[in-house]
Amino acid sequence: MSRRIFILYTGGTIGMVNKNPADSKSPLVPQDWESLQDYMPSIQSDGYFQRDKGIEFEYVSLNNISDSSQFTTKDWLRMSHEIESRYEDFDGFVIIHGTDTMAYTASGLSFLMEGLAKPVVITGSQLPISHSRTDATNNLSSAIHIAAADAFDIPAVNEVCICFNDRLLRGNRSTKMSTNDFEGFESPNYGHLAELEERIKVHQRRLLPPTELPFSVHKALNSHVMDIGLFPGLLPHQLENLIGDDSIDGLIIKTYGSGNAPTNDEFVEVLSEAQRKGTFILFITQCFHGGVQLGKYQASKVFDEIGIISGGDMTSEAALAKMMYVLSKTKDPIEVRNLLLQDLRGERSF
Ligand code: ASP
Repeated sequence: MSRRIFILYTGGTIGMVNKNPADSKSPLVPQDWESLQDYMPSIQSDGYFQRDKGIEFEYVSLNNISDSSQFTTKDWLRMSHEIESRYEDFDGFVIIHGTDTMAYTASGLSFLMEGLAKPVVITGSQLPISHSRTDATNNLSSAIHIAAADAFDIPAVNEVCICFNDRLLRGNRSTKMSTNDFEGFESPNYGHLAELEERIKVHQRRLLPPTELPFSVHKALNSHVMDIGLFPGLLPHQLENLIGDDSIDGLIIKTYGSGNAPTNDEFVEVLSEAQRKGTFILFITQCFHGGVQLGKYQASKVFDEIGIISGGDMTSEAALAKMMYVLSKTKDPIEVRNLLLQDLRGERSF
């Protein structure tokens, strides 16, 4: 039985080469995927995947392949459109992406794709595929195994995930941890979806339950959303200058610990005033593990009382993408609050 896998190349280190080939210190720039496929014999027409497993590939490159630091939410919409237009024709999807904003894209796509019932696996690498010690071939090969699960007799992971360094992580639970380690990603508040060791072990009880909704792609994101981090010494008027702009619909504040922040009257008033002007405010934690529990400490109780929304244990990438998604659907205060507090795609545990 043949399986069809769609591979979308968006850029990133995996496909980069030195701008000046004679100078290994010159900046890395992305290159067309066609010129790089030779580095991965297993995906070629006479290679392992096609010859032994009957897997057919189709490749498309985004027309603006780039370092992922250049991507905006429009690129998430483009990527989800590429998948939507081929959804019925393919069994699984692999997105090749730079690591810098991979966790943001994974979070964004997880919300944009409603009723997803096929694997969407995002991968990239810390070293270009042309490098003699590259991690790209392992990461891409692993991602193809997950996307074409039944060819390898493993359970299907029908969600947006990140496959990197022998681990499969839920996309909207992931965060980039290292600029250089091969172990570049972690999902601090959620167990790995699979380990890819000598055998591939999928942790089925950690997967999202099967969806009953038909697949569709939401076509909008509200980009009037901002996130800022607290630090000792942040003055209320500085915060006011940052958020006083009426066009901000959603504000994510990375608070201390389990949702603590300065409780002086001026600070609280700046947040209350922003809410009165229509800005929804969500607190997340700046800690790597754990989440926000408003009211656990006196230093967070007042924020619960003024209606700040708790982001629980969401990553900042998931919180941002979710806020953009929710605020593109509704501005009704009760609906926004309910949707942000609800676990929509496995992005929060409380
Ligand atoms: N700056 C690169 C990018 O995100 C890093 C990488 O791909 O690993 O595109």
